[in-house]
Amino acid sequence: MESGKRGFLTLLPLLLSFLFYFDFSKKLPSSDCSLLPHNHYWIASKHIVTPNGTISGAVEIKQGGIISIVAEENWHVNPWFTTVVNYGEAVVMPGFIDVHAHLDDPGRTEWEGFPSGTKAAAAGGVTTLIDMPLNSAPSTVSEEALKLKVQAAEGRVYVDVGFWGGLVPENAENATSLERLLDAGVLGLKSFMVPSGINDFPMTTSAHIKEALPTLARYKRPLLVHAEVLLDHDGKLEPEDGVDNARSYSTYLKTRPASMEEAAINQLITLTKETRAGGSAEGAHLHIVHLSDARTSLNLIKEAKRRGDSITVETCPHYLAFAAEDIPDGDTRFKCAPPIRDAANKEKLWDALLGGDIDMLSSDHSPAEPEMKLLDEGNFLKAWGGISSLQFVLPATWTYGRKYGITFEQLASWWSEKPAKLAGLNTKGAIAIGNQADIVVWEPDLEFDLDNDYPVHVKHPSISAYMGSRLAGKVLATFVRGNLVYKEGNHASLACALPILHR
Ligand SMILES: [Zn+2]
Repeated sequence: MESGKRGFLTLLPLLLSFLFYFDFSKKLPSSDCSLLPHNHYWIASKHIVTPNGTISGAVEIKQGGIISIVAEENWHVNPWFTTVVNYGEAVVMPGFIDVHAHLDDPGRTEWEGFPSGTKAAAAGGVTTLIDMPLNSAPSTVSEEALKLKVQAAEGRVYVDVGFWGGLVPENAENATSLERLLDAGVLGLKSFMVPSGINDFPMTTSAHIKEALPTLARYKRPLLVHAEVLLDHDGKLEPEDGVDNARSYSTYLKTRPASMEEAAINQLITLTKETRAGGSAEGAHLHIVHLSDARTSLNLIKEAKRRGDSITVETCPHYLAFAAEDIPDGDTRFKCAPPIRDAANKEKLWDALLGGDIDMLSSDHSPAEPEMKLLDEGNFLKAWGGISSLQFVLPATWTYGRKYGITFEQLASWWSEKPAKLAGLNTKGAIAIGNQADIVVWEPDLEFDLDNDYPVHVKHPSISAYMGSRLAGKVLATFVRGNLVYKEGNHASLACALPILHR
């Protein structure tokens, strides 16, 4: 009796472990969604980036969510009965959230498309992206167009995808159609203060924006603005010295001077006064996309923030990585708007980012068919603009930021935490209990050459400005809602991530 009882007690932990194992660690019914066929497991690493700092320990994931985070000294699991993926020294961070990507689906899938764009995202450690309302066809400017977007995304996305709606004159002047677009679930709106280059996405003036702000305030969703305006004195995007030297990047730069950004931001900050506490548009928020001018434009934004306006700003890795002086003649892969400016401006952008005056980063991934970049002709004035970079934003930010001493926590803030806040994604953006398990695992010291031998998973590698460079910071694994969607060059066989609509 005595010995039998002792025997049972000895076996008890084993029995419990079996129960635990069979209850929680069973294989998923559809393992095609994930390269790791478990719905309850631990990720361990010496470097786990959490809102409370970087720890050595483990993260417990169950049914797509993060259920515990344990420091190494307090972590006691039996590896015989628990699935543990140990990444050793590699960095485990919240997945990147890219608030500015153009996947062009439906309608221009020869440019990108949801499957190829989200595969690139997964390979680059981006676990959520917010799709811009252009350059798909139609543009996402109505409830009906949003429905087409969601249909196009369903079952075809490897990372989660949310949607910005377009603010255009037609819906800015018609509160009902704007409300229908917001009710249908866009996470916020985007507008252009210069011609967008897409016919069904006309530009808005500051008067249109003013008209829309009270509606956005009621819905508490942000307006993202492409802040450049045409200047009165020339009124057209042509250089003073004609097209003789259209292969020179400096010619293109003259067509879009920093004063265009400055003038737009000047107009915008007269409107954002109303977003302060007690203002007529309190609750609305204005976000300036892809800031390039780090001089007067940035100072205007800083002043507005100091006054209490609800305003944020992003820049992109290409403005932090490249300088106008270094862009080779005819290399139209580098054409984007606003343009990449001089090296001194780039240094000021880094200062502003490190100092917290620039809130976050985004890719502004905007591919097109290679023919449209006119790579043979090299004419900067005629080539289609847009930098293709979605998969390279993590290594690019890390590679160019290392000399400024950037930290993993800063990367998580610029690429996960702040973007999640802008887009209203309350259960994303941090490795925290209760959040969805959106995680990137990467190796900061691993360097690689982006040449033809490198498996880039990019639809049009010939147009990416990063091809040909050597980067550090290799993505090993990407988890979306607990599904291992990318691992060392391979993607899950099914696209099981989700379209995200505002609820
Ligand atoms: Zn864009």
